[in-house]
Amino acid sequence: PMMQQYLRIKQEHPNCIIFYRVGDFYEMFFDDAKVASRELELVLTGKDCGLEERAPMCGVPFHAYENYAAKLVSRGYKVGICEQLEDPSTAKGPVKRGVIRIITPGTVLENSMLDEGRNNYLCALYVRGDEAGICFADISTGEMLATCIAESVEQKIKSEISRYSPREIIMNSEAQKLGRLKLFIEERTDCALEIMDEQDFEPSVCAARINSVLEGRIGELAEHPLALSAAGAVIEYVEKTQKAGVSQLRNIEYYYDGQYMTLDFTARRNLELTETMRSKDKRGSLLWVLDRTKTAMGKRLIRTWLEHPLLSCAGIIRRQNAVEELISKPIERSEIAEVLAGIHDLERIMSRVAYGSVNPREMLALSSAFGRLPSVLEKLEGMQSAMLCDIRGQIDTLSDIKILIDLAIDPEAPMTVREGGIIKDGFSAEVDILRADMKGGKDVIARIEQSEREKTGIPKLKVGYNRVFGYYIEVSNSYKELVPQEYIRKQTLTNCERYITQELKDLEARILGASGKIVVLEYSLFDEIRKKTAAQIDRIKRTAQAIAKLDVLYSFAQTSFERSYVRPEVNISGKIVLKDSRHPVVEALSDSPFVPNDAVLDKAENRVAIITGPNMAGKSTFMRQVALITLMAQTGCFVPASYAEVGIVDRIFTRVGASDDLTSGQSTFMVEMSEVADILKSATADSLLILDEIGRGTSTYDGMSIARAVLEYAADTKKLGAKTLFATHYHELTALEEILDGVKNYNIAVKKHGDDITFLRRIIRGGADDSYGIEVAKLAGVPMPVINRAKQILKSLEAGTEVATRKTKKDKNYETDGQITFVSSVENELSAKLKGLDVNTMTPIEALGVLFELSKMAKEQDN
Ligand code: ATP
Repeated sequence: PMMQQYLRIKQEHPNCIIFYRVGDFYEMFFDDAKVASRELELVLTGKDCGLEERAPMCGVPFHAYENYAAKLVSRGYKVGICEQLEDPSTAKGPVKRGVIRIITPGTVLENSMLDEGRNNYLCALYVRGDEAGICFADISTGEMLATCIAESVEQKIKSEISRYSPREIIMNSEAQKLGRLKLFIEERTDCALEIMDEQDFEPSVCAARINSVLEGRIGELAEHPLALSAAGAVIEYVEKTQKAGVSQLRNIEYYYDGQYMTLDFTARRNLELTETMRSKDKRGSLLWVLDRTKTAMGKRLIRTWLEHPLLSCAGIIRRQNAVEELISKPIERSEIAEVLAGIHDLERIMSRVAYGSVNPREMLALSSAFGRLPSVLEKLEGMQSAMLCDIRGQIDTLSDIKILIDLAIDPEAPMTVREGGIIKDGFSAEVDILRADMKGGKDVIARIEQSEREKTGIPKLKVGYNRVFGYYIEVSNSYKELVPQEYIRKQTLTNCERYITQELKDLEARILGASGKIVVLEYSLFDEIRKKTAAQIDRIKRTAQAIAKLDVLYSFAQTSFERSYVRPEVNISGKIVLKDSRHPVVEALSDSPFVPNDAVLDKAENRVAIITGPNMAGKSTFMRQVALITLMAQTGCFVPASYAEVGIVDRIFTRVGASDDLTSGQSTFMVEMSEVADILKSATADSLLILDEIGRGTSTYDGMSIARAVLEYAADTKKLGAKTLFATHYHELTALEEILDGVKNYNIAVKKHGDDITFLRRIIRGGADDSYGIEVAKLAGVPMPVINRAKQILKSLEAGTEVATRKTKKDKNYETDGQITFVSSVENELSAKLKGLDVNTMTPIEALGVLFELSKMAKEQDN
């Protein structure tokens, strides 16, 4: 019957690995057992269950399930926890069981499965026609956000997914069919994907579902049906997997396209905002440099702020004022850091409080965190900036809940809720009486031991306890004859016999009864306190969010102070002016001093900077540094420079180097071109473009033609006119400064002595005269014979090819004039000959003769 029950439950949850509770173990059967034994390295055994073959089986101890489940979930499986729903000792027939929770990557609540420094988002995506609704929810913190997308749907969805990096995505089937979206999710992210029924997204059902969960607090969502559907699907999915409800989801924020800087997947990756491109480590990313947060809440929020640079000057200045104030008050700053350091993860603990899985230790952690809040308020006392004042206003000291927890919960309480020892003495009269009973019982046992010794004259008589026989009297074999009649023999060991008596049995019932009762009572008292705390979730969350903000502002201030960053002037001038700017990460990683550089970009004379210079000179570093500083400025942080003016940028795009994208099944050049395509389609005049070595992956002429065309398009105010940093090895393009408005040449200075070069790392006006590719190859240790041969080839190439660059003045139409042409001498001759012909006056025979001659000339060149 147990196996029948198992099969029925498994049938209801075909996509989950079922952890089936049997006694002190979670067992897995059949295919689940095979998968689990492989993934978790468990021994596969078998169970007779009336079938022809024994059922494959393996198991894990129930108290250690978290680690095993975590491993499976991290590998993309879902785990269904199937519990015994009644006490096996009192159950009639087979114990009732049911799945109480399904753990999926996007719905985990266990600390051991979560990274404290990042949100764990579940994403729902609803695509209908050429519009989409998207919702991100982190049920471990209770955060929920949604938006609608009405244009460039595929691209924007990808960009939102890259921004939030969800762990799991649920979508309707239309979303699955959208362009290359599914491929993108499978190849570029590590999130699990689930297709849900169309009816789960039904707007009216979703509206009702959300309204009931959020108790009407759906704000602007009501006006955006697609976002509403996505949010509804999230709730449906969470309810389906969590069973115990979703009370930690309290409200939902609707956000707009225009609120934050747009950064697509490529830009985020190339700029290494939160992890490095190659090793995916936090070390070496911008986040790594800026993160000095003290709390888990702050750690998550600083990541969010970096992922969401602001577009409103007012919002940025508000943060800057707070950062500046914290920098200017070093004593308060260090005191704030000290207090924050002891504040536990209120958001995640509160989610477990709401869900009902919190343990007594975590409740104590809440209380100790609340205990620090008055000092936080005290440190904020004299602060003037609006944001710090607001934070002070949002912090509630929560002393009522702290008092409740402190009165009720024993400071030595265990991690578990089913073993007693939770409630403090003096909190509940009932608990105190039961405890006295238990303690009294134990005293009585000591007394019985003493009196039985005296009564029987057996000096070494002992009263002991084990789980099978309960309390017993133990008498060693040498005193066997002295054992009185009324003793009932229970067990024979090598050296002794064990007996029970009626008196002992009665006592046992009393003690065990009390300890059973007390466990139940303590649990229910604990649950009451939990519920009372859960009822205050909104107050606690508001406080948690204020603490998170304070922590990030502290972190910005501390880093800015330590690294001598300056406050950038943010405005809407469209300019980016940096003096002595540094790359925040290269500077932090390197022991040798970073050479500072200036940068000027604007919407007029300095729209496009063409940057030339040898390999390794520092072109990429410089371009990324300008992009990172712009981004940092828009998060409210100070920046590494001696002066900075940053006009708000709506998007940053990057096309950097050849990213080896072998996994995506596209050639490097194809990837490069599709990135260029995306950039040119989505950029605006307010965007910042970082274009590094466009056109490198194809033949020189093709590559240069594309590079020039892209540059012209970016520079042209009638087409794009975006601020652009354009690094290239095509020196011929530097001629464009003369031809195109708003284009300026820069190069990174090197010193050449003989065959060798020294990098000066200074960016200066003007084009570079050479790429020094061979010199850099020599520096890299390419063998001398190869270097010498390369020089030879270069010489003959340069001799055989005439580079004709015809420049015209700026005011001419540069699209037809100012061609840069590369023509070999033979081609020149051919073209001269062709130009000299008067075809109208030629006879067919003459024409054939000339054709023969031209063809011969061309062939000779090949030989
Ligand atoms: P390539 O064309 O080969 O990609 P590049 O010109 O883009 O080369 P980068 O990769 O930017 O060169 O820089 C080369 C090295 O120089 C990097 O390791 C970087 O750490 C260092 N570097 C760059 N700029 C500076 C600077 N201003 N001060 C100190 N070190 C720098």
